[in-house]
Amino acid sequence: MIKTFFFDRDGVLIKNYGYVYEPNKVKWLKGSISAIRYLNKKKIKVAVITNQSGIGRGYFTEKDLEKFHLFLNKNLKTYGAKIDDFFHCPYHPKAKIKKYRKKTNLRKPGNGMLLKAIKKYKINPNQCFMIGDEKKDFLSAKKTKIKFEYKKKYSLENQVKKIIEYL
Ligand SMILES: [Mg+2]
Repeated sequence: MIKTFFFDRDGVLIKNYGYVYEPNKVKWLKGSISAIRYLNKKKIKVAVITNQSGIGRGYFTEKDLEKFHLFLNKNLKTYGAKIDDFFHCPYHPKAKIKKYRKKTNLRKPGNGMLLKAIKKYKINPNQCFMIGDEKKDFLSAKKTKIKFEYKKKYSLENQVKKIIEYL
C-alpha cells in the first residue's frame, strides 16, 4: 500500500528548460496535473524532491523558489489538485554564493531530502514510491529503499495509476 508519492519536479511534473523559477514559463507535462489529483483523491501524500542549485548559483533566491512553488499550487488548485510538500536542495559544491557552497547528502543522488521527508511524516520507505527522470533520482530512491520508476513517455496519470492499481 503506497501512502506517499515522491516526484522529481523538472522533467516529470513540469517541462525542464533549465533553472525553472518563473511562473509565466510553467508548462505542466502531460497527465501531471491529473496524476496529482488522482493521488489526492486516494489520500496519498504528494511531495516534490528537487535539486535547486540555481539558488546557490545565484540565478534566483530561496524566496523566488518559495513563490514559484506557491504559484504551482495556486495553479493546481484551479484543477482541484495539490502538492502537499516541497523539498529542495539549494546547495552545490561549486555554488557561487558561499553559504550554499557545500557537498551535501541533501543533493540528489544523495538521499537527504527523502530522509527528511520520511522523518517529517514518520513514514515507512516501504510505503513510498518515487518517479524521476534522471539517474540521480533513481540513486536517491535506491539508497532510501524506496521503489522507483523512471518517467515514461506517456501520460504521468496513466503511469501513476498503473503503479497504484497493480502494486
Ligand atoms: Mg528531473
